[in-house]
Amino acid sequence: MIKPFKDAIPVIEKIEAAGFEAYFVGGAVRDYLLNKQINDVDIATSATPEEIKAIFSHTIDVGIAHGTVMVIWKNHTYEITTFRTESTYVDYRRPEQVFFVRELKEDLKRRDFTINAMAMSKEGHIIDFFYSQDALSKKEIKTVGNANERFQEDALRIMRGIRFVSTLGFQLEEETLKGIINNKHLLSKIAVERITTEFEKLLQGQWCSDALAILLQTKMYNFLPMLASGKEGITKFAKTALFQLDLTEKWVVLLLSIGIKEKQRIESFLRAWKLPVKQMRHIQKIIYWILKREKMASWSNQSLYFATLSIAVSAEKIYQLLWNHEIKPNISILEEQYIKLPITTKDELAISGNDLLLWTNKQAGPWIKEMLLLVETKVVERKIPNDKQLIKEWLRECHQI
Ligand code: ATP
Ligand code: MG
Repeated sequence: MIKPFKDAIPVIEKIEAAGFEAYFVGGAVRDYLLNKQINDVDIATSATPEEIKAIFSHTIDVGIAHGTVMVIWKNHTYEITTFRTESTYVDYRRPEQVFFVRELKEDLKRRDFTINAMAMSKEGHIIDFFYSQDALSKKEIKTVGNANERFQEDALRIMRGIRFVSTLGFQLEEETLKGIINNKHLLSKIAVERITTEFEKLLQGQWCSDALAILLQTKMYNFLPMLASGKEGITKFAKTALFQLDLTEKWVVLLLSIGIKEKQRIESFLRAWKLPVKQMRHIQKIIYWILKREKMASWSNQSLYFATLSIAVSAEKIYQLLWNHEIKPNISILEEQYIKLPITTKDELAISGNDLLLWTNKQAGPWIKEMLLLVETKVVERKIPNDKQLIKEWLRECHQI
């Protein structure tokens, strides 16, 4: 058995020794059978959360109400979830209440797709009640049970289905695809954060353009934040060579593809997707510099300095991709140019606001920031050397002080 599972075997052994069942479940089993890299190993058990807490000395309550306890074992953490069913779904969302059961099969039955509904014993024996291995070999994404019912229980599964198209390169089984088409409107009932998580996984998948094609085919985009009139833009986006970009850069290309360039509209779009503020600012900066780049033959020292290297590199990559449809391998030129800048941050400037106050006898005010910016620009452009005395002389000569 491979490493992440092997490390967790003693955890399962301990649960079994206490008289309960425990298995590896979910995505890790799927990815193991697909020879893919395994992220986190999830364990399902017949023991209740309280019973698990009595077995292990180091646990964290991460979701007791949903049956999940985190166990810390030899520097690893494992999410251990009690077998459960989710029998009443209100308003097309994940239910508030779950029912713990002692049967593995019941637990596997509530899972979204057959490829995610396998269990594996600590000996590596696969437990497959729903033809999951068959679906894996056919590269098929199929709901466990009736597709309409399963999507109506929890509409997030619609999003998950197409994100697996993107990450696994699988196809949606016919009834599952029909279920998505019939129930896509229910996506508007789902918390945006959960949609965003799945959409970002979709964006990062190797088969992203296939998933976007399904987004268009099923007209699902109509129920995603701010994408309702995005048909043409998404089509354009799907044709872009996205694999060369990181997640933030992909958001930028999506925005530009659907024609959102203006500051206020960018802000509304990103807020609608509830992206973290830091990522929002990053996206906004890249777009700002792409629009500037469109008006420049190449990066001036000043632009490179004020953009910062990572933003400039992202902006340049996207600029090339959108205008030349490929990224030239010359991005490293920007790095060389950046290294040669006289200063790369304001902290490296030989003078400070205090120096300006000393040299002028003026009251502090917004003029300090303005004058520092002027000096910063001149130093970056090599119009004056980054030397305290020489900067002072230059300021005197042009009657700034
Ligand atoms: P990844 O490799 O991206 O983590 P995953 O399949 O492990 O994919 P998780 O969100 O980690 O996805 O969920 C773990 C498991 O829980 C899934 O494999 C599936 O069995 C089950 N699951 C997750 N979300 C749902 C859902 N909305 N409805 C039913 N079962 C779900
Ligand atoms: Mg997972």
